[in-house]
Amino acid sequence: MINIAIDGYVGSGKSTLAKGLAKKLNYKVLDTGAIYRGLACAYKAGGYGEVCQESIDNFLNNCKTIEIFFKDELQHVVVCNVDYTQYLRTEEISMLAAQISPYKNLREKVKTIQQDFASKNNCIIEGRDIGTVVLPNADIKFFITASEEIRANRRFAQIKETPNSPTYENILKDLRERDYKDEHRLIAPLKPAKDSIIIDTSNMNLEQTIEYCLKIIKLKIN
Ligand code: C5P
Repeated sequence: MINIAIDGYVGSGKSTLAKGLAKKLNYKVLDTGAIYRGLACAYKAGGYGEVCQESIDNFLNNCKTIEIFFKDELQHVVVCNVDYTQYLRTEEISMLAAQISPYKNLREKVKTIQQDFASKNNCIIEGRDIGTVVLPNADIKFFITASEEIRANRRFAQIKETPNSPTYENILKDLRERDYKDEHRLIAPLKPAKDSIIIDTSNMNLEQTIEYCLKIIKLKIN
């Protein structure tokens, strides 16, 4: 199987890039952030309270199943038989996902799902630690960055018309906080793998980024 890893910062555009590339290559795509978000939803729904090792242990003891399935190109995340897909994208769940994601035993559960998916599909897997920890032998590894302000602006442009959308300043603050947490955790911190191709998309649009990555993929894979 061909496995392509895409890692990067909050709002770097890695999900959109992964979907665009997958379409062109006819590969599957796995959004691993959605799995952490699904777990955050289940954690919240279960009322486990402030996040600490003990609460994570309790949660994992009760959390027997985590399933992923795809319907109409949408990735669904089902934890303990509850489909949380429509609740994944709030700012509260983003933050809670970043709070529960540093715990080793929780990451190990998610790693198994990701590796299983990679072993069965030609795929693009996007996240924070795919090139470094989950798929250290991925065929190609991309690491996507853009300036904080550009990432916050892109996110703001996407959601400013939705009711109760956060301000640009709040988006920038949350993005900085989450990146800091992801980069500074002890287990599987966000960082490029030694063999990652780093792409700064600050001055590139989506089409340019897709074309650039496709050229590299064709060179490396064919
Ligand atoms: O990518 P997304 O913003 O949906 O990820 C939500 C959170 O899940 C991240 O801020 C990070 O804490 C966690 N995550 C992770 N490892 C991944 C993907 C996401 O720790 N591979």
